[in-house]
Amino acid sequence: MDDSPRWARLIDEVAAFAVSGCCAGCDIPGTLLCPPCRRALTQAPQKRTTPTGLPVVAALTYEGVAARCIRRIKEDGETVLARPLGSALAAAARELPPGQGFVPVPTSRSAFRKRGYRVPELLMRRAALPVDRRLRSVRRIADQRELGVAERARNVSRSMVARHARVECDVVVVDDVITTGATLDEAARALEYAGFRVRGALVLAATPRHRDDAENTW
Ligand SMILES: [Zn+2]
Repeated sequence: MDDSPRWARLIDEVAAFAVSGCCAGCDIPGTLLCPPCRRALTQAPQKRTTPTGLPVVAALTYEGVAARCIRRIKEDGETVLARPLGSALAAAARELPPGQGFVPVPTSRSAFRKRGYRVPELLMRRAALPVDRRLRSVRRIADQRELGVAERARNVSRSMVARHARVECDVVVVDDVITTGATLDEAARALEYAGFRVRGALVLAATPRHRDDAENTW
C-alpha cells in the first residue's frame, strides 16, 4: 500500500536515481523501488515477544527486499527509502491499541555522527508517529553483531535511562530491527524504572525466526 502523493513519489524517485539510479530491492535501473519490490514491503504485521515477554509488532521480515532496503537506509545513507519503509511501519502501528506514546530506542552518538540521522526517528516521522525522545544511552555498548542471545542481553544491560514520567502513561518502544529483543527489553526496563507503563514494542522488521539464535550478522 502506498498512499504518498504522486509528487512525493516523483521526488523520491528523482533523488534515488541521483543516488543509485536503480531499484533498492532488485537493482533494475531507473526507479527507487520497482512495483514488485514495493509490494514486498507491504506484508501482514507479525507478532513476537522479547526474552522478558514484551509483545512486539513487526512490520516486515528482515530478509530479501526488506533487508536490502533497510541496509541501504542504515548503511548507505539512502534516506529516500524512509518513505516506503515508513508506510510499512505506519501499517504495523495500526495493530496497536490507541492512546500510547511512542518512544524511539536511542541512537548511539557514533552512529548519529556517521549517518547524520537517527533511523528509528526518521522512520517514525515518515509514518506520522509522534516522536517522544525520552530515552538516552548512558554508556557505549559493543557491536551486537558478533554476540549471542545472552551476551547481547549483558552487553546492553543498564545502558539506557529515561526522563521520568510526570504522570503515569502508556508507551510503546520503537526500533528499526529486532534480532533477540535484548535492546527492546533494556529500553522497557529504563522506561518502567522512570514510571512508564510499557505496553509493547513496534519495529520495522524482525529477523526470521529460524535465524534468531544462529545468525546475528546485520
Ligand atoms: Zn525492484
